[in-house]
Amino acid sequence: MKKIAIAVTLLSVLAALIVHQRFRIVLTQFGDGSPPPLLDAQDEGADVTWHDDYYIVQALDAKTFAIGEPRYLQQNFNYLIIGTERALLFDAGSGYRDIRPVVEALTDKPVTFLPSHFHFDHVGNRVEFERVAVIDLPHLRDRAPNNELQLTWEEHLGSLEGYDPPTLKIDEWLEAGSLLELGDRSLRVIFSPGHTDDSVSLLDAARGYLFSGDFMYPGPLFAFLPNSNMGDYLQ
Ligand SMILES: [Zn+2]
Repeated sequence: MKKIAIAVTLLSVLAALIVHQRFRIVLTQFGDGSPPPLLDAQDEGADVTWHDDYYIVQALDAKTFAIGEPRYLQQNFNYLIIGTERALLFDAGSGYRDIRPVVEALTDKPVTFLPSHFHFDHVGNRVEFERVAVIDLPHLRDRAPNNELQLTWEEHLGSLEGYDPPTLKIDEWLEAGSLLELGDRSLRVIFSPGHTDDSVSLLDAARGYLFSGDFMYPGPLFAFLPNSNMGDYLQ
């Protein structure tokens, strides 16, 4: 009887451990702790230019650029949105290749970096940006009393490709629903949780653009990650 009780206890502990670590166990299927090998370069179309052998640039208009990483496994797009006073870089890839030279080739305005959310393939990791903006949410503010936000494993997931969670030094907190002014151009800051609990989208109503990060894109949407919430997504 005693042996059965010990076995049940051990199994219970093991089950609790597996439940607690379920995300780490599942996510090891998606990365082995080092950056994935680059994909072969493809013809990306006539309206796309290669900045180098890694980044492509597509002009949506004279002041709006999609900066793509077609050879990176995640095939991210980052957006440079330029006003008369300053420019905004919305996402910065994983930092596999520093995105700043691409940005500097497209604008001489001061650039503020805003991650759509904190997954490792959006925050630029080891790349340091001059100015950083983050959506103003209580659960983020509480963790950044000195405007320094240390990302957690759960919200970053960079161990999949060997990146430690970085600390973001925040210059600007953006209130949800507010207008972000770039000079003769403003973007509505939209809190769009679901993929993560801190995801932000940007609406450029004058030009008819919605920049949505990982909240919405062509392909399977991820709503099972550690700080995802399917209920938020559906709302
Ligand atoms: Zn993501």
